[in-house]
Amino acid sequence: MDTSKVQVFKTAGRLLTGENASYLLAEQMQHFNITRPLIVTDKGVLNAGIIDPVLEHLRSNEIERISIFSDITAEPETKTVEDCRTVFDRDDCNGVIAIGGGSAIDTAKAVSILNKPSAALSSNSQKVSLGDLFGENLVPKRTTPLICLPTTAGTGSEVTNISILLDINDELKKGIVSNELLPDVAIVAPELTLSCPPSVTAASGVDALVHAVESYLSKFASDITRPLSLQAIRMITESLTTAYQEPNNIEAREQMATASLIAGLAFGNAGVGAVHALAYPLGGKYHLSHGVSNAVMFSHVMRWNSESCPDKFVDIAIAMGAPTDGSINNSSGSAFVINKIKQLCEEVAIPQHLREFDIKHEDLKDLSESAIKATRLLRNNPRELSVEDIKAIYEEAY
Ligand SMILES: [Zn+2]
Repeated sequence: MDTSKVQVFKTAGRLLTGENASYLLAEQMQHFNITRPLIVTDKGVLNAGIIDPVLEHLRSNEIERISIFSDITAEPETKTVEDCRTVFDRDDCNGVIAIGGGSAIDTAKAVSILNKPSAALSSNSQKVSLGDLFGENLVPKRTTPLICLPTTAGTGSEVTNISILLDINDELKKGIVSNELLPDVAIVAPELTLSCPPSVTAASGVDALVHAVESYLSKFASDITRPLSLQAIRMITESLTTAYQEPNNIEAREQMATASLIAGLAFGNAGVGAVHALAYPLGGKYHLSHGVSNAVMFSHVMRWNSESCPDKFVDIAIAMGAPTDGSINNSSGSAFVINKIKQLCEEVAIPQHLREFDIKHEDLKDLSESAIKATRLLRNNPRELSVEDIKAIYEEAY
């Protein structure tokens, strides 16, 4: 039987969204028998006091033995995952709770799959080392429960089956792709994003928009993912600037948090494309954050893509607020989208050129050679790219 056209829609086991959703964490932990959690977070979240109400909520639910790991770098590294797992084993934890941005969540996801050999586990479980898990579907069954609460809006990592880590040995970002990384529960609570600083709101918000747009354009977009992509585009275009300018605006924060989740559902299944492929080398070599490196490449890659699927750019333009009176057509849709992207990036103060980040012009060749290796992403892109094409886009973005 030919099953090649069957599509599997993957997401976290449960999704909780909306204001005060974080106060249902204890209930969810109870369901998964987590009594000794390891909370994976970062210093920024810890110092801003974002997790204090969560800790109070856990203690009032008689969860007293709480371990916290907050030594997370801006871009998650393999060494960080190993250090975090050491704390998990040392404190005999029985569940991983990520409360943070994409770095904390990606770290937590990787920590949760490093199973500890124990009598309580099935006999075929074995100690696995991180290096063996890079690639697709190499992860043995996860036995540690995993709950993710994003504090940014966001990477969508709370609903995807990928963990991207920086290997400091070769300065390369590598991905673990496995359905074992899908969290048991994703709790997307806008109250956790209120203290997110404007620069992070901007970068992670544009990243979420990139997820929505790239998943819509992806060769693997489906009837399930396409409406999700458009809905996320609509919500982010409407609320990003407000969330950036008015950090305490809970409605805008809720729109952004939910939209980031919806974009995550779309790209977690349809994939992302050339924006991400060209952004990753910037993170690896220049340590630009994931969101900023995507934002800087966004409009330039869209200009390249627009020629291959102008009809899809009309849909995106309308989701971004273009008039529906027929004035937007195959020849004007992409210009509207590109201008809107530039306008949004300007409103949230993200530069649009590589030179503004002190990237050396002579490095563009190396960056292109690195980007072309991201075949996992490039194969989703609506228009094919050679290494020369990539170099030309970096030149334009310079
Ligand atoms: Zn991204």
